[in-house]
Amino acid sequence: MIRGVILAIVALALIALTSVGPLQSACAADTPSSMAASGHFDADAATAAYLATMTPAARARSDTYFEGGYWLMLWDFVIGLLLTWALLGWRFSARMRDFAARLTRFRWAQTALYAIQYFILITVLTLPWAAYEGYVRERQYGMSNQGLADWLGDQAKELVITLIFGTLAAVAIYAVIRKLPKTWWLWGSAVAIGFLIFQIALSPTYLEPVFNKFYPLAESPLKQRILSLARANGIPVDQVYEFDASKQTTKMSAHVSGMAGSAQISLNDNLMNRASLEEVEAVVGHEMGHYVLNHIYKGVLALGVLVVIGFAFISWAFRRVTLKFGERWGFRDVGDVAGLPLLVALFSVYGFALTPLSNTITRSMEAEADAFGLNAARQPDGAAQAALHLAEYRKMQPGAVEEVIFFDHPSGWNRIHRAMVWKAENFSAADIAAYDALRRPPGVSR
Ligand SMILES: [Zn+2]
Repeated sequence: MIRGVILAIVALALIALTSVGPLQSACAADTPSSMAASGHFDADAATAAYLATMTPAARARSDTYFEGGYWLMLWDFVIGLLLTWALLGWRFSARMRDFAARLTRFRWAQTALYAIQYFILITVLTLPWAAYEGYVRERQYGMSNQGLADWLGDQAKELVITLIFGTLAAVAIYAVIRKLPKTWWLWGSAVAIGFLIFQIALSPTYLEPVFNKFYPLAESPLKQRILSLARANGIPVDQVYEFDASKQTTKMSAHVSGMAGSAQISLNDNLMNRASLEEVEAVVGHEMGHYVLNHIYKGVLALGVLVVIGFAFISWAFRRVTLKFGERWGFRDVGDVAGLPLLVALFSVYGFALTPLSNTITRSMEAEADAFGLNAARQPDGAAQAALHLAEYRKMQPGAVEEVIFFDHPSGWNRIHRAMVWKAENFSAADIAAYDALRRPPGVSR
């Protein structure tokens, strides 16, 4: 169940794909002499110059990888529905319930035993597909060098975590369903959201270290700069961590996690090994934006609204579907745990239909974090470099509708263009001018 809930990461707002008109900063007369004396910065030209650094072959590869993801999303959904159909239609689910009932007379324990069978069965049955998606395909595209044994080990760890949280959540939600059969969707969604918050709170300290090693980042001027950025923005940390993501992926990332007054800044080792100093600063500024702008709370709030609506929908749909098929599948009432696969499948239908909305919610928050990061770190070229690196696996320049439906982050083109617009508007500032004087990045005419 918790998996289904996590599926629907969500909230609202539509970004119109703004193509901000060509911007040219006025050349301030009273700027430091280090600045390009009569420099104009053309954001559009600079964006185009950054895009031109990506070879057509690299771009085609990234497009194919990312567009393949659209189909994976569809197949994930279809495979989930087919499995549910098989579990219910061949009465496996009813038999799993009967088996649990023979082992114990306590209802909550029956629910737990059923849930354990369910999670193990689903994981085993979908393993070949998961292996294609997460192992074979990732290696094909050079996104991972992880060995099969190691990958399987991670899957096993994930299963254990799902068994613990998923089983607890199932027991709690079914207790609510049985106690409040008419209004369970409302109170049940409160329980589901509670579990989600619990998991987010535990994640940095207890869940992430299960998969990766976290260690303090080696001392360097960059580390001091990151800590200074944190102090300047009210993020309560005195340490920066690095973790060994390279054992699973070649993708670069970072995050600032923590709730309720605690925080942890974690950079993955791919970022540290492959990115320039200004790029790391830009990425860290972005991640700090998520923390400072309270995106965890806003995300949970938005998700909460969608979960309540989703539970209301599945409560209604469950009744209709069981009226027709309940007899054949061996259960009728929603308090019967044999109906769990149906609840999950209905929630996945809801989550699938909401994909454009949930993506738009996260994409909007990502755009906010981008804006925060630019203002905080003042590294527009670093931000553009990061967008180029991310374009190794995210389509650089999608169509407007495509971006709304499929993108949970702004596209690379959008991010670079925004960074360059920011740069054009700040071109007279001493630090920006000094960077430019040293590097002469794309877009400057003198
Ligand atoms: Zn982000």
